[in-house]
Amino acid sequence: MASTDGFNFDTIDAPVVSGFENAEAANAASEAALASASGDAPEVPDVPDGYVDLPIGINIDGETITSAEVRELTGADEEALARVRSRQRAYIDRVLELGTVRLGSRPATHDALRKLYIGDRDALLIAIRRAMFGDQMDFEGVRCATCKTRIDLTIDLTQIPMRATPENLRPTIELRKMSAVVRFPAGDDQAELIDRSDKDGTTTAELNTLLLNRVVEEFIKPDGSRVVANPISIRDLGVADRITLLKYVGDNVPGPLMNEITVTHEDCGQEVAIPVNVGDLFREL
Ligand SMILES: [Zn+2]
Repeated sequence: MASTDGFNFDTIDAPVVSGFENAEAANAASEAALASASGDAPEVPDVPDGYVDLPIGINIDGETITSAEVRELTGADEEALARVRSRQRAYIDRVLELGTVRLGSRPATHDALRKLYIGDRDALLIAIRRAMFGDQMDFEGVRCATCKTRIDLTIDLTQIPMRATPENLRPTIELRKMSAVVRFPAGDDQAELIDRSDKDGTTTAELNTLLLNRVVEEFIKPDGSRVVANPISIRDLGVADRITLLKYVGDNVPGPLMNEITVTHEDCGQEVAIPVNVGDLFREL
């Protein structure tokens, strides 16, 4: 898979997720879970109720949607997911479709979920995980960069760092000779980027062009006239302007910062980074 450094939002950046390729470990984990279930009550503390605030929200047919209802996935869902396990885009879509009950007062359809900003989709994925397994998530053998040792750590899914939602979701970015109006990436953009990055030989430059084609809406010229962006005007952008736009989007995508999760290592007092991707969130399945 081509890397997507330059905009780097978590589920795109993550290569097809560790949990998926490690069927043996997943089976072992599942057997361990069964063993513990036959003894004491399974360890799923503090399962929250199924309602989650969307950090950004969306307007669909005039309804402003700022919350959603999620549910835990079942054995039947697990079977449905197994069929799309190796395809990251389909897997994310299926988890969201199975685990999200309603968006505001509306049914959580495929199309509605695809319209959500990536930050809201990540918030839903985290909420579905919490509904299934609680707020704590253990990681074994994480390397502390300070101590150079491997340690076991636990993250709290209610404490994931969040980037605040900007007041203007269609900001104007100054370029060298004009400015550009951009929007933040949504599920549809994420899906197309994953599909494209799964194709052999796709370069980072091609993915960046694809992203810009989707999120740059219009250019504003020095005389104030506005021109709708199109593939030709995007391709003709200077490299410096491309970098400005990609960096802006990457640095400002609102929502959970899944790549910036850290836990303090008690022995040395330093923070240990634990980036979490969608495969990690559903590694037990
Ligand atoms: Zn340490």
